[in-house]
Amino acid sequence: MSRKPWTDCDALQCSSSQTADASSVDRFDVIVVGAGPVGLSFAASLAQSRLKVAVVERQSLESLANPAFDGREIALTHASVGILRELGAWDAIPASDKSPLQGARVLNGSSPFALCFDSPSGSAEPLGILVPNCRIRDALFKIVHFQGHAQLLCGHSVVNATTSHKEAVIRLCDGRQLAARLLVAADSRLSATRDLLGIGADINRLGNSMLICRVRHERAHHQIAVEWFDHHQTIAMLPLMEGVSSLLLTLRSNEADRLLALDDDLFLMELTNRCRGRLGEMTLASTRHAYPLVTTWAHKFWAPSAALIGDAALGMHPVTAHGFNIGLSGQKQLADGILAACRERRDIADPDMLGRYESRLRLSAAPLYHATNVLVALYSGEHPTARLARHAGLRFAQYLPFIRHGISAMLRR
Ligand SMILES: Cc1cc2nc3c(=O)[nH]c(=O)nc-3n(C[C@H](O)[C@H](O)[C@H](O)COP(=O)(O)OP(=O)(O)OC[C@H]3O[C@@H](n4cnc5c(N)ncnc54)[C@H](O)[C@@H]3O)c2cc1C
Repeated sequence: MSRKPWTDCDALQCSSSQTADASSVDRFDVIVVGAGPVGLSFAASLAQSRLKVAVVERQSLESLANPAFDGREIALTHASVGILRELGAWDAIPASDKSPLQGARVLNGSSPFALCFDSPSGSAEPLGILVPNCRIRDALFKIVHFQGHAQLLCGHSVVNATTSHKEAVIRLCDGRQLAARLLVAADSRLSATRDLLGIGADINRLGNSMLICRVRHERAHHQIAVEWFDHHQTIAMLPLMEGVSSLLLTLRSNEADRLLALDDDLFLMELTNRCRGRLGEMTLASTRHAYPLVTTWAHKFWAPSAALIGDAALGMHPVTAHGFNIGLSGQKQLADGILAACRERRDIADPDMLGRYESRLRLSAAPLYHATNVLVALYSGEHPTARLARHAGLRFAQYLPFIRHGISAMLRR
């Protein structure tokens, strides 16, 4: 941690006045595009190697160093906590930002019936831990910045990428060219790098948005999350510190835009009505944020001299809260493959190793990805048969303990 930070982040955004010598090429072993939580985790995972790593990010150093609250509270599994701990990021997150999730209740419409997920009886271990996305980004940024192992190139977008069996070459918006043995795209679910590499993806724009804010409320949440599939809306209440929850409201995108434009008092009044008093009286405790919902699944997770990680490989619907968890374990699988190749003096972009990375990630993520999409289709349908089916589904699951215990185990993994 004592090494000098190796950064090149003073240039904020590319402009025509910032042009680099296009004839020279800066060479690296690995270039990561995207300093989101998965790209940063991957860069941190490679710190134990002697590889020359660059991380290209379109945001400025200032925004990366002070990530703003973005509404997302990430429900981390125990496996993810383990990976963050290994990277040194877990202990860099203040304890006051870690909220245990002791259980979850799933409700359907106005029915009083709730499907319950709890920690195994006698176990004090929570189902998962909620941490604000900005705190995860902050901790990972500090690790990568102060390790000084990876060169951070901030304020730059990638405008071209070509790959061959020998190397990958990218051009940045200021004209600078970088080459590497392996290019890793971690630039979100609508990854421009994935497009530049010619890798197709199933992109499903759902027409809904998730509107999120923190609220302070009268009734205790007992660290229990609530997922409530109501008519024309889904509300999730995630328990944070005492008397504070994160409220996630899924609506048609035009409805979400209308709510976003209301002043605070009108917004709160509408939120209270929509929650039908479940949390008692409420006040706003944060800014509001809206995310248009898009799921993506890339047709391939690798190409010669290139790989996709995080949301660039697969972007999950947030309802089952697993996108980052899957991205984090996926980047670890790829980094482990690369570190093993370094130790054994093999090629770090060996197609067999990249193929194994893809197979493992597909196998571990596909069941959850497809199950989540089926759940979303069933629970957002407004037809009376869809409502009946979800009511029956919840009862069925409640009386078949292996289904509930299976889902609880999946949440905890
Ligand atoms: C509302 C919501 C709630 C969620 N809740 C959970 C949860 O509870 N649990 C969970 O596991 N997951 C959750 N997720 C999913 C999780 O947020 C994502 O899976 C995770 O952020 C993916 O990280 P990433 O680094 O792959 O991509 P991103 O977070 O999208 O980061 C991509 C980075 O790439 C940069 N970038 C983009 N394009 C370029 C370019 N051309 N050149 C350079 N840089 C570029 C961006 O600026 C950004 O920094 C949630 C998502 C949403 C929307």
